[in-house]
Amino acid sequence: MPDTILAEADHTSLDVPVIRFVPLDPAFAARVRAGGPDDNGQSAERAVSGGTGTPCRQCLRQVPAGAAYLICAHRPFAGLHAYAETGPIFLCADACPESLGAATPGGDLPAILSSATYALRGYGADERIVYGTGGVVPRAGIAARAADLLARADVAFVHVRSAANTCFQVRIDRA
Ligand SMILES: [Zn+2]
Repeated sequence: MPDTILAEADHTSLDVPVIRFVPLDPAFAARVRAGGPDDNGQSAERAVSGGTGTPCRQCLRQVPAGAAYLICAHRPFAGLHAYAETGPIFLCADACPESLGAATPGGDLPAILSSATYALRGYGADERIVYGTGGVVPRAGIAARAADLLARADVAFVHVRSAANTCFQVRIDRA
């Protein structure tokens, strides 16, 4: 296993998708919207968005001002283990279009990533943090940093989390 960050991935062609932003499991969203349990076994809270600070993890956009949203606990991992953190997320209260698609290092970021900085963290295929990969990056550097991390053989996916509050925002996979 490499113990240093590999040389920068080849970003010479910024139009080639190398990463993709992965919204949360639509089955989870559907369950919570129907009043079912979140990842703490509780029903979601309901609130009304002021138009900022309410990033929906399914459509990857801000919940519009005046629209209802849900506050629930989510564990963005397949397994249940020590590294599988559970935390608060927001979701549009009503069904919203799932955001899908590959991204390029030079392309647009999902609309929810509107803050100045984010924490990125690489995980291995075993869903454990790959130590040394975590750090805070400016918004404009998210895609390139994720591409560099995903160029490593020991990184299977990347989490984008709030730099200030560490809330899970979106996962990034190889395209
Ligand atoms: Zn939404």
